[in-house]
Amino acid sequence: MVSAEGATTPGTLYIVSTPIGNLGDFAPRAAEVLRSVEAILAEDTRHTRALCERFAIRTPLIAYHDHNEAQATPGLVRRLVEGASFALVSDAGTPLVSDPGTRLVRAAVEAGVTVAPVPGPSALLAALAGAGLPTDRFTFFGFLPRKGGDRTRALGELLALRHTAVLYEAPTRVAPTLADLAAAGAGDRATVVARELTKQYEEFRRGTVAELAAYYEQNEPRGEIVIVLAGAPEEATDAGALEARAAALRAEGKGAREIQQALLAAGASRNVAYRLAHEA
Ligand code: SAM
Repeated sequence: MVSAEGATTPGTLYIVSTPIGNLGDFAPRAAEVLRSVEAILAEDTRHTRALCERFAIRTPLIAYHDHNEAQATPGLVRRLVEGASFALVSDAGTPLVSDPGTRLVRAAVEAGVTVAPVPGPSALLAALAGAGLPTDRFTFFGFLPRKGGDRTRALGELLALRHTAVLYEAPTRVAPTLADLAAAGAGDRATVVARELTKQYEEFRRGTVAELAAYYEQNEPRGEIVIVLAGAPEEATDAGALEARAAALRAEGKGAREIQQALLAAGASRNVAYRLAHEA
């Protein structure tokens, strides 16, 4: 926008949430913003075009995704600074939540452009809200690394957590991830697998990690999945209980590494788990 004095006012970068399955969740303000901007920055233009057609939104679409964000961001920010307004959307839910956008928002903030969220659906909060596990504190892990040291580290972090954790997972990976958690000592923890949220076959399946690992081993889930996992129980973290657990595992012939993982799963701090696991 150009003022009477010829100075330009930067535009606004809107971060717009879109439905995670149920089109009834598309907010009136989200539609209004998508109609008002110069262009919609879409993770997948075909996907967003279908949403726009459904709501009679005729705004031009620009592809903005993991593979072009580095190259596209400077030009988009330049146009924002010059007065254009854009709306960033992802295929579903809230952009930047396991979806592209962080780079663009950071660059827009640095350039003095207003960033305005238009909040709405996100599988993360929908799963948490329906899970029935504590919500006063939680950690979102997104998708766990699939293998190697990064996965081991993420599992260790997850096991040590005293509060609720939320993970996104591909359907084929639900059973292996729950099995890895059970093997590392979190088999007794309460967990909820939230599937196809807001859609026709929405389902919350509840049980312990071990129970659900066994269930999904036999019944590979279909659709989209969020795993919500209870934190390590507080009562198991007192020193006496941890020592007793370490001694019991040692008596069973478990090695230091397994004992350490089990203690982390029970909520011991890293230092305590290491010390007790390596005590003679
Ligand atoms: N930005 C999105 C959000 O705010 O939820 C998440 C994008 S991430 C690439 C996609 C993952 O989110 C899916 O693999 C699944 O784990 C989760 N997800 C998305 N929609 C879902 C739904 N309707 N039910 C359950 N999980 C869903």
